[in-house]
Amino acid sequence: MKAVQHAAHGGLEVLELVDLPDPGPGPRDVVVEVHCAALNRLDLLQREGPALLPGFRLPHVAGMDVAGVVVARGSEVDAPGLGDRVVVKAGVHCGECAACRRGEDRRCGAVQVIGGSRPGGYAERCLVPASHAFLLPDHVGFEEAATVPTTLSTAWRALIDTGRVRAGEVVVIHGPGSGVSVVGIQLAKHAGATVIVTGRSEEKLERARKLGADHVLGERDPGLVDTVRELTGGRGADLVLNHVGPALFPLSVAVLGMEGRLVHCGTTTGARVELNLPSLYHMGIQVLGAGPQGYRGFADMLAHYWEGSYEAVVDSRFPLAEAAAAQERLASGEAFGKVLLCP
Ligand SMILES: [Zn+2]
Repeated sequence: MKAVQHAAHGGLEVLELVDLPDPGPGPRDVVVEVHCAALNRLDLLQREGPALLPGFRLPHVAGMDVAGVVVARGSEVDAPGLGDRVVVKAGVHCGECAACRRGEDRRCGAVQVIGGSRPGGYAERCLVPASHAFLLPDHVGFEEAATVPTTLSTAWRALIDTGRVRAGEVVVIHGPGSGVSVVGIQLAKHAGATVIVTGRSEEKLERARKLGADHVLGERDPGLVDTVRELTGGRGADLVLNHVGPALFPLSVAVLGMEGRLVHCGTTTGARVELNLPSLYHMGIQVLGAGPQGYRGFADMLAHYWEGSYEAVVDSRFPLAEAAAAQERLASGEAFGKVLLCP
C-alpha cells in the first residue's frame, strides 16, 4: 500500500510517499481502507520532534482521525463486518492493566494512539482494533466523519465533562478557525450557553458567527475585557475554552467572572504560563485540564453528534501524495476547519 511516513524528525521535506506492506489483522483487529484522514497539530509537532507520545517510533505514519471501509478482519471479530463504513477512535487502551480492568480506561498506563504512537491514516490502509472502529450512519460521509473524533472528543471533554457548561452561562472560546473551536461553539450553543468568540481574523470571526457564536470580538482589541464585562452585565464569563495555551492565558483569566472556570485542552503556543495567584483566589477561579476522552461514552458522544444538527467544516482536502502541502496548510494558521488527506 501507499503511505506517507517520516523516518526522521524535521521539516516538511522528511515526509515521504513510500510503499509499505498491507497490514494484516490480528484476531481482534480490522483493516480499514482509508477514505479520509484529518490532520491534527500533533502530526506537525511529532514530525518536527521531539516526539510527544510515549511509545512513538520512527519511521512514523501519522493520522489520528480515520474514516473508511473495513476490508479485512481477524478471526474473532463479529463486528464491524466487511464493507462496513466506520470512523476510528484513535486512543486505544490496553484492556488488561489494573485501570482498564476497573473500567477506568482513561487512566490506562499503556494507551496507544493510532497515528500518534502506532501507524495511522496517512496511508491507504490502517490497522485498528475492531472495538475502536465505530459504524457510521448512512447520512454521514467520510469527510464529515474524519473531522469528528479528535475535535469532538476534545471539545466534549473540555466543555461538557470538565467545564460542565450549563444553560444560561457565558462561554468564551478563543481561535475560531480550529476544529476544536468549530465543534466547541456548536456544543456550547446546544447546551444553551451564550458564546463569545475571540480571534484575529475578521473573516474567521464572521464564520464563527454563522456557526452560532452570539458575539465575536477582536483578540487584539484593547477594550476586549471591558466588552466581555458589558456583554455579561458586569459579571464576566463563566467558562473559557483555551486550546491555544500560554498566549491567551492572561486574557482567559481576565475575562472570567467570580468562580469562573478556565479549561485547557491544547498547547499550540507553548507549555508554561505565569499564574497570578491573588487573581485566582480572590476570584475563586478554577484552572482545569480537560484530560483524555475515555472509551466508555465515546459511542454515545458520536451518536449525539450524528443526530444533532452539527455542521462539519472542511477547510481543504489533499491526495496522499500531497501530505506535505496539507501539513503546510495546517501550519499556516489560515485554515478554517479541518484539513483532510483523502488517499
Ligand atoms: Zn490499560
